[in-house]
Amino acid sequence: MPILDIINKIEYSKEDLLELLSISSKDDLELLKKTAYEIMKQYVGEKVYLRGLIEFSNYCVNDCFYCGIRKSNRDLPRFILSKNEILDSALWCAQKGYGSVVLQSGERNDEAFVDFVEECVRDIKKITISDSLPNGLGITLCVGELSYAQYKRLYDAGAHRYLLRIETTNRKLFEQIHPNNQSYDKRIECLHMLKEIGYYVGTGVMIGLPKQTIEDLVNDLVFFKELDVDMIGMGPYLMHLSTPMKEHKDYFFDNQKEIYKLSLKMIGVARLYLKDVNIAATTALQAMYPWGREEGLLFGANIIMPNLTPMDARKNYELYNGKPCLDEFQGDCFKCITTRIESTGRQVALNEWGDSLHYISRKRQEL
Ligand code: SAH
Repeated sequence: MPILDIINKIEYSKEDLLELLSISSKDDLELLKKTAYEIMKQYVGEKVYLRGLIEFSNYCVNDCFYCGIRKSNRDLPRFILSKNEILDSALWCAQKGYGSVVLQSGERNDEAFVDFVEECVRDIKKITISDSLPNGLGITLCVGELSYAQYKRLYDAGAHRYLLRIETTNRKLFEQIHPNNQSYDKRIECLHMLKEIGYYVGTGVMIGLPKQTIEDLVNDLVFFKELDVDMIGMGPYLMHLSTPMKEHKDYFFDNQKEIYKLSLKMIGVARLYLKDVNIAATTALQAMYPWGREEGLLFGANIIMPNLTPMDARKNYELYNGKPCLDEFQGDCFKCITTRIESTGRQVALNEWGDSLHYISRKRQEL
């Protein structure tokens, strides 16, 4: 069946999703890109929303085989920013008009850590209220697996969105890239808890993992739909040479171009299939290609997470090799990001939270 006929279907079967992700000709890719963009325009508009990213700590109790900040990576200097450093970054972000901030870190689940995050959330809310942001910055957390009570405390403190990637929905593959004490079921349970508490919930996967198939990615998309998530953050898998997955480096270096293309297709197909969710054009895309995030925007993404982490810390928050934006500031980050976004013909939303419209429609249905 011609790709256009599949794209124009009202509902997509798994076979349709497989066909779309398998697109290889330039013309079909262009068609996917154009239609995904139109669907985005129709369902969530053309504005791009910013979430300033603060990578506030690289201490981690987990040992994911792909991740550079895993606890067994002994070469890495560990840090946690002070509360004042976090608040300064958040205030800068609010003053520039970003609207929202993301607090991301390695995983810890001790009470002292959760107390710290809770205090930061509370204080960020307090200090960022202004005429242009009457409810302060929107706050997204991305700090991993916690208990129900801990998630609830952070929600009550003022965080209203949470990102927790499932990483891959292929259980066997999940087990191959994580140690035994990290379980697929626990991640799923956490995602359900976050929804129950009332967070806007985001999840996502890494694309191009060794042994991952296109069928796996189809199942990932179906998982997003069935879990009825509000936000998607996904990007290419990237090699970190101090991780156990360095054994796959030949596979990775030989297939980078394909992985990049597949990541863009995943964004486009996710937009066609899920319609009104927020989709981020992630930093990992930019690590593969300098204009990767901008291409992600052209395939239907509507969120960008510019990095606000102070430079010394930023260098040590190394999830993968080749992380971008590590040179000392060449100028104003804000100017750089707005120029980049505007180069795609899009407008940057200032002083707006840009919450997922999907959340609103799903809450309406729950009534
Ligand atoms: N600890 C938090 C967030 C930190 S990492 C959590 O688990 O939610 C944020 C995301 O970076 C992870 O979910 C993972 O999908 C991604 N990541 C980690 N290592 C990566 C790699 N080598 N390549 C691409 N993405 C990676």
